[in-house]
This record gives sequence, structure tokens and C-alpha cells, in this order.
Amino acid sequence: MTEARSIRVRGVVQGVGFRPLVFRLALANSLAGWVLNENGGVDIHVEGAEPDLDAFLRELTLQPPAAASIAGIDIQASAVSGLTEFTIRESRRNGNPSVRISPDLPVCGECLQELFNPADPRYLYPYINCTNCGPRYSIVESLPYDRTNTTMKDWALDDSCAAEYRNPSDRRFHAQPVACRACGPHYFLETDNRVSRGDAASIDAAARLLTEGRIVAVKGIGGYHLACDARNIDAVRALRERKYRKEKPFALMVKDVATAHRVVELSIEAEALLTSTARPIVLAPAKVVLPEVAPENPELGVMLPYAPLHHLLFAAGAPAILVATSANRSSEPIAFTDEDARERLAGIADAFLIGERPIARRVDDSVVRAGQFGSTILRRSRGYAPGAVAVLPAQRPILAVGADLKNAITIVVAGQAFVSQHIGDLDHYESLESFRSTIRALASMYEVDWCELLIVHDVHPQYASTIHALELPSAHALAVQHHRAHIASVVAERQAWDKRVVGISFDGTGFGDDETIWGGEFFTGSLAGGLQRVLHLRSATLPGGDAAARYPVQCAAGFLSQLNTPVDFTAPPFHFDHRYHRSAELLKKNVRSFETTSMGRLFDGAAALLGFTRAITFEGQAAIWLEHLARKAANCDAYPFPINCRELDFRPLLESMIRDCLDGRPKAEVARAFHMGVAEGLCSAASILCKANGIDTIVLSGGVFQNELLLEGVKSLLNGKPIFIWTNSAVPPNDGGISLGQAALGAIALRGERNA
Ligand code: ZN
Ligand code: FE
Repeated sequence: MTEARSIRVRGVVQGVGFRPLVFRLALANSLAGWVLNENGGVDIHVEGAEPDLDAFLRELTLQPPAAASIAGIDIQASAVSGLTEFTIRESRRNGNPSVRISPDLPVCGECLQELFNPADPRYLYPYINCTNCGPRYSIVESLPYDRTNTTMKDWALDDSCAAEYRNPSDRRFHAQPVACRACGPHYFLETDNRVSRGDAASIDAAARLLTEGRIVAVKGIGGYHLACDARNIDAVRALRERKYRKEKPFALMVKDVATAHRVVELSIEAEALLTSTARPIVLAPAKVVLPEVAPENPELGVMLPYAPLHHLLFAAGAPAILVATSANRSSEPIAFTDEDARERLAGIADAFLIGERPIARRVDDSVVRAGQFGSTILRRSRGYAPGAVAVLPAQRPILAVGADLKNAITIVVAGQAFVSQHIGDLDHYESLESFRSTIRALASMYEVDWCELLIVHDVHPQYASTIHALELPSAHALAVQHHRAHIASVVAERQAWDKRVVGISFDGTGFGDDETIWGGEFFTGSLAGGLQRVLHLRSATLPGGDAAARYPVQCAAGFLSQLNTPVDFTAPPFHFDHRYHRSAELLKKNVRSFETTSMGRLFDGAAALLGFTRAITFEGQAAIWLEHLARKAANCDAYPFPINCRELDFRPLLESMIRDCLDGRPKAEVARAFHMGVAEGLCSAASILCKANGIDTIVLSGGVFQNELLLEGVKSLLNGKPIFIWTNSAVPPNDGGISLGQAALGAIALRGERNA
């Protein structure tokens, strides 16, 4: 007896080879019907015998395409309409296109085989791709995802590509960026005085230059890399000098997994991240010494080739361990247009390996780590963005604009929270421009109705993101406190709106309710009921305004001024410079000083006490230095970090540090005892708050929780206690995750409005 089912699949299911798979499975199981891309996902109608229908459904759910991510499948019995064949129908459009745009995908195994098969028409062709692989978000200009709406629109398909594109049983059926040597874009190599054309010739020449120790700007998926031989110290040093990048680690691209194993200590989890479809940069302990690549840092960031071009470069003989760092000067955003690259990288790159396919938007490499509580995303960008990370209880669209550092935005459509690529620090003009254009692009792709839109921003009145948010045409805006947004970002990932938690946000800086700078905060409550600040780091006055974040000595001066100690910190074993005295003067006169409860700054101050007295050259540098120093010592007794009147008092903690330094205790041990002190302070405060409020779950978020040693301490101290620990996994614990938390609190506010 013939039966029929109508099936709706939601998730990342468009542009990832879903319809061809459905087509093949339907044919294999002798079913009639149709499949089509709907705005909300993929709709399927199948008719046939019941066992065949069951087999079809089983296979569909058990083996979806590698790049697909199914969020839900609804199956309903349906009326039999007597169809005789199975067809792929044209897309129809209605309502909001809440279907997700796929993140960019790495070249797949089948395409790689073709790439290196001399008999294949796409032999050595750097733009090879299929429905299972290739660029997506980085080439999309608007929705729906059709070739005419991508940066491939200027290349018409030739007959053989068109035949593959139209054949439902072909791997390239409706692969929008499909191209071949005859009809598609090409790579070429530019040096000062000449341009060499031909994909193979230019890639060979680039590989040769890299081998000779030159620096090559390489156009990839979401922007340009600056590449050089990581084992050539002169090349790496030249890159640092020309780029004005003093100490921030460079990422590496290695030839293959075996090379990765030679370069870093890869746990099973770390290897899984390395080879995952996002192909992120994975931070792991270094096994080799690569001078100048990551100064004073025992970790290296490693990624695998992901574009066909990268594989071709290695096959052409490029060094197996390449520096592959964002192409920019200093901390500017990565260059992604050819003109911009030529202009900004002149004087840095010796040659430019340029591909003709335009990049629609800047999408940096993502950075991840296999951490204490599973994988942690430190920079969420290529391979992840703009994927949905959570379902929020929102009936109306929401735009959350994030914070000013490490900015990323979140847009909520039909309850799905889509988080943008990493946009960067908004004090750069270029980042501010991408912030604006990303808002425009995502709002238009998802056809957001500005009249309906709720805009959520930070409470900081001077944030560029706040100012821009308030200029947008929407009538509804909501301000959210920075650290509540951090906590909400974790709770949103778990969709636990009513769950009562102890939220702990240890962070650099964020504008507080009392207009001072917060960053060592404990909250209790739920997203739905509100998060009350119940405890915090004892506040200190730091001198020098924003400069305090750059000079650890200035932070130290602020915290130490509360101690009443006669110690001269400019004499050994301390090494504070003139800044210390100047800071003390500022404090005495109370000019350009600000009050803060920032835990991030406390770590900076502790680093200064132990010898990090120079200016930092990238965010978090002093704290990272302190963590690595502490790792050189074994576990030891923690310094006291007691709770006094709803404050974690840092004075006994710092006094113990100073005493041990004067006694000549090894600095690594002091750093270790400091970390353990912070972990113990956190855990005892958390335990008290849990017990007093009948709460069984703590939430950790904020930039300080990128510190794995601190997390290790917390994990072992709470081990065996009836307390669950929640951390971020889909978005970063740093300010890159703020917009998700803002969006979640926005959704809750809307829900409250509706109920009222
Ligand atoms: Zn492929
Ligand atoms: Fe923050």
C-alpha cells in the first residue's frame, strides 16, 4: 500500500548537498515525490511503501551530508498524490528567510582527489569545489543562496560545468561556486616588476619564494594571509619588523596532520578540532622551538590547509610549516580586497598571490582550544560564522551589537540567534566600517523589519557600538550591563531561561551599574528573574585612564596603594619603572584615576610584581605571561583571598605575594600560588552563594576565563561537590560572546513585555 510523508528539515541544510542526497536516497528506495529549499529549511514529500519510507528516513537522519547540521526534523503523514517520479523543485520564497547561511567549508576529500588527478578537468585548479565543500558566507552577497547573489556571478558556467550543476545525481548539483579551468577565475602572482599568470605557474613561483625565505601575501577564503617559512628565523623576524608586530604570536599553517603532530602536542580532542569542518587555528603546547613565531609563549596556534590553493602551495613544495598570519599592519583588521592588500601590504609582502574571485566580506581564521570544559572558541569566525548558536524565545527580530573590543554582532530571526564573524576592535576605523556593513548585510539577508526590531547594546554610553546602535532606525532599544551579558551568553547556549545560577564574570573592563568599571563580579538569579550583583572584587583606584590596561605597572600601583606597605617596588626583587612613581602621584592627586573591580587588571598587576613591567603589545599579554609562568611550578598552597563584607579582598593575596618575593621564593611558585588563590577565592564564594540561595550551578564567563590554569583549579576544587559548572562553548568567553548574551536578555525583556 502506498503511503506519503511530508518532511521538513531545519538547520544548516542549504548549500551543503542536502537536496542531491535526498534525491539519491529517494531513488535508492523507489520513492516518488519532491524536495525543495524552503526559506525555513528543506521540504520533502515522499510516497511509496511503508518499509521504503522508513528506510529512507533512517538513512537521511543517520548519514546527512558532512557539512549539514540538522536542527530538527518534523515528519507528518500526508495525502498520497499519485506521483510517479522524484524531482528537485525550484526554490520558493515566502516570509522571513530564517534558513541559515552555511559557514565556509574546507575542500572535501573527493575534490582533493580530483585536484591531484592529472586526468581530471579540474587538475590543479585552485577554485575546485562541490556541494560538500567550498566557500559560502565569504562569497554570499545576498539571499537566497544562488550563484547570481555571490561573488561568482561574473563567471558564466561553460557547458560541462552547467551539465554538472543541473544534474541532480552529480556532486556539483546546484553547487553555486562551481567552476573549472576553462570558465572560472584564476590565480596570478604579482611582484614589484612583473605579473606571472597561470594557476600552476604562479603557485609554483610563490612556493619557491616561500622556500627562499620571502614573505608572500596569499589571498585565501576570508582575506589575505601573510605567509613565510616558519623555520626561517630571518624571514619571521622580517615579517615581525615589517608588520610592526612585536610579540603577538603568529599562527601556523602546516602541511598535514602528521606535521601538526610534530609541531604541537595534540590531544585527541585537539586533533578533532584541527580536522573539524571549521578548520580553525588550534592552540596547543609547542613541541618544537620556532624562534620569533610566538615569543615567550609555550603554545603554538596551528591550522591545516583548507582552501584548494593551500593544498596546491604545499604540493608545489612550499615549506611544510608556514607562518600564516592575518595580512595587516599591527592590529588593523585583515585585508580582504585586492586594492586594500596591495596598498596596505606594500613594504611587507615581497609578492602577492592573488585570486580573481572577490571576497564578499572579511572573515578571519577562527581560534580554538581543547580546554578543561571541552572545546573553547577564542575567536569565532571562518567556519563557524554566521551559524546559529542558540534558539531564543523571541517573537520579534533582535539585533545585539556586542561590545567595543573583539566585537561580533548577533541577529535573531524567527528565534534563531545567528552570530556574526569576529569583527574586531571598533576603535579601528576599518573595523567600525565592517561592523556597520555586517549589520546592514545580515539585516538585509534576513529581511529584518526595522520597525519590529529590538536593538540591544551595552550600557556604556561612550562605546562606538552603543552610539551606532542608537542611530539605527529601530524604535526599540535596550541597554544591557556588560557582565550580565557575559553570564547570559552561557545560559543562552543552554537555553535555561528560568534556571537560577551563580554567575561569575571575571573580565577586563565593563561599565557597571554604578558607572565604575567592573570586572570581578558575582551575580545570583536567572535570566528571566534578573541577575543581582551580590559580591565582587574589592574595588581599587587605578591611575592613568585607558593607559592602565596597557601598562601592568600602572595597574599594580593602583592595587598596591591600598596595601600600606613600605616596600620600594622600584628596587629588587621588583623592577617597576618610573611609571610607578608617576602613577602614585596621579593617585595622590586623584586625577585621571578610576575605580574598578576588574579581575583582569588584578592579573596584570600580579604579572607586574613578578617581572612583567613593560607595556603589553596585545590584549591579555601580561595575564597569559603570568599563566605560563605559573605552569612552570607544581601545585602549592594557595594565597589567601578571603571574603569580607561581600567583597573578595585582594590585599592578603598581594601581601603574601610580596612577602614571598622578598623572601626569594621562585617566581613560578608565586605565580602558581596566586592562581590557586584566585581559584580558591572563586570557589569558596561560589559555594557560599550556592548554599545560601539553594543554587546548584555556577556560570563562568569573561575574558579571564580564557586562563586554563584558573579553570583547572576551579574544576579540581569543585570536584565531588554538588555544583555544576557551565562555561561557553558556542561563543567565546571573551567579549566576542557578549552579543549573544545581549540578545538573550533582549529576548527575555520582550517575553516580559508580552506577559505584562
Ligand atoms: Zn568538494
Ligand atoms: Fe568583557
